[in-house]
This record gives sequence, structure tokens and C-alpha cells, in this order.
Amino acid sequence: MYLKSIEVQGFKSFANKILFQFHNGITGIVGPNGSGKSNVADAVRWVLGEQRAKQLRGGNMQDVIFSGTENRKPLSYASVAITLDNSDHQLPVDFSEVTVTRKIYRSGESEYLLNGSACRLKDINELFYDTGIGKEGYSIIGQGQIDKILSGKPEERRELFDEAAGIVKFKRRKNASLKK
Ligand code: ATP
Ligand code: MG
Repeated sequence: MYLKSIEVQGFKSFANKILFQFHNGITGIVGPNGSGKSNVADAVRWVLGEQRAKQLRGGNMQDVIFSGTENRKPLSYASVAITLDNSDHQLPVDFSEVTVTRKIYRSGESEYLLNGSACRLKDINELFYDTGIGKEGYSIIGQGQIDKILSGKPEERRELFDEAAGIVKFKRRKNASLKK
């Protein structure tokens, strides 16, 4: 499994529709300060269901929508789609390619799509449990996160090991059935 592409439109500094394509290997994104490198990582975090605006360096969720520049009007919605190669079927679905899309409108309305079909945030979360990719996964290591892991509470550190060990989905299911 690997990340094939990220398509952004109206997300943060990316007003126009932009498609980043990747190959099965290492890709570096370079550019001057403020050119939008971190916004690319924010886009991936956001599409994976990040609900905390602070994690995306914003005040509220609508702050991810392109807010305009001197010569360009603000946009009314933001959209991000990531496509993963799933030919090894590491993700528990039949598709050999999985596209996750998230959209948000200024009204606050938002939607998630899985290969083009509307789905719930819960479906996205479950798809990525134990892969290390979800929003709580370790596939995106942000600035300061290593410090946080080292100085965090043992329970928080434990979550990381649970994810790596592949037992998160069992724990969640157990908790859900205990609640019933
Ligand atoms: P550095 O090298 O300093 O880390 P960077 O390449 O990571 O920089 P980013 O932090 O990704 O840069 O991009 C910051 C830019 O994104 C700023 O110019 C900021 O104005 C712009 N930006 C962030 N949110 C929005 C938004 N909602 N609408 C328009 N522009 C935005
Ligand atoms: Mg940055």
C-alpha cells in the first residue's frame, strides 16, 4: 500500500485544483517558507478525519477553506482527496485503489466519500485502524510530536503500540460491545 495522489481544491493556500502524484518510493516536497509544504501534510491529516482545528494550525474548521488573497476572492468550500494503492489489500476492502474524499462548506456542512460514495467518518476511521495511517496513526509525524511521545503519559504511548501491534480494532469493538 502506498500513497498515489493527493488532490486539493480550495484547501488552505491551494485555491486552484492541484494534483500531487507520487510513486512507490521517497518523495520530498521543498519550497520557500510559507509556500504551502506543511499545508500538504495538513491536507492528508484533514482528509483522514482530523476534527481538531488546532492540529491543522487553525482556529476553527472553516479556516481550512481558502480565505482569499489581495487579488483573489475567498472560496466557498475546500476539498481534499487522497488515493492509496491497495493492490496488496492491506486495507480491508475489495478495491485495489482507495480514494478518500472530504469536503467542507462555509456553512459548516461537510461530507466524506469512499471511492465516490458518501460514507461516515466512522467508516473512514475503521478502514484505517491498525494500519498506522489514521489520524491517530504514526504515518504523519509532525513537528514536536516526537517530544510529545517521549514526554507523554504512559497510556498515550500505549495507544501507539496498540496501533502498531494491530489490536486497536479489537479494543474498539470490545469497548463498543461493553457499552451496549
Ligand atoms: P515553512 O517552511 O515556514 O514551514 P510551509 O511551506 O510549510 O512554510 P505552510 O505553513 O504550509 O508553509 O503555508 C503557509 C501559508 O498558507 C501562509 O502563507 C498562509 O497564509 C497560507 N494559508 C493558510 N491557510 C490559508 C487559507 N485558509 N487561505 C489562504 N491561505 C492560507
Ligand atoms: Mg512548514
